[in-house]
Amino acid sequence: MLIINTSSPDETEAVGAGLGSIVSPGDILCLNGDLGAGKTCFARGVARGLDIKEPVTSPTFTLINEYQGRIPFYHFDVYRLGGPEEMDDLGYEEYFYNGGVTLLEWAELVLDVLPGERLDIFLETAPENPDRRKIVLLPYGEHYVHLAEELMNRVCPGN
Ligand code: ADP
Ligand code: MG
Repeated sequence: MLIINTSSPDETEAVGAGLGSIVSPGDILCLNGDLGAGKTCFARGVARGLDIKEPVTSPTFTLINEYQGRIPFYHFDVYRLGGPEEMDDLGYEEYFYNGGVTLLEWAELVLDVLPGERLDIFLETAPENPDRRKIVLLPYGEHYVHLAEELMNRVCPGN
């Protein structure tokens, strides 16, 4: 488990951008955290790291937004989904296993369909300071262990 602390939205976005610049086709990034924790902010950074120039908006109502960058980027927000079974209706496998980078907000709501190998990212607010966030990286599988370590080296060199 690796932890990064940020003290502004820009810093959280920069961590996302660091990740977006090192991800590879097929990577699955699973974001968790309460409303306002910074999931969309982080996703915006990932898009920037993938060289996506379009503005990234929350797919809360559309459920999936697609962007073309260095690698196709599929941005899910499953908050309004009725349950994991509705992921089939969305054709989620066409996204997960299609050579793009998939990021899911509220991933824990669809745990059943998540691949065993993935990067879980938990964003936590600090009650004592509204601008601080704790970002916890929990990689599953060797590929994601390396990805998380490389991100740590980029954002907190020397740690
Ligand atoms: P979510 O997608 O998790 O609901 P958003 O990214 O949409 O969250 O919103 C996060 C909110 O928290 C934004 O209003 C942002 O300005 C604010 N914020 C304050 N500090 C931070 C921080 N360190 N990192 C990310 N967002 C922050
Ligand atoms: Mg969001």
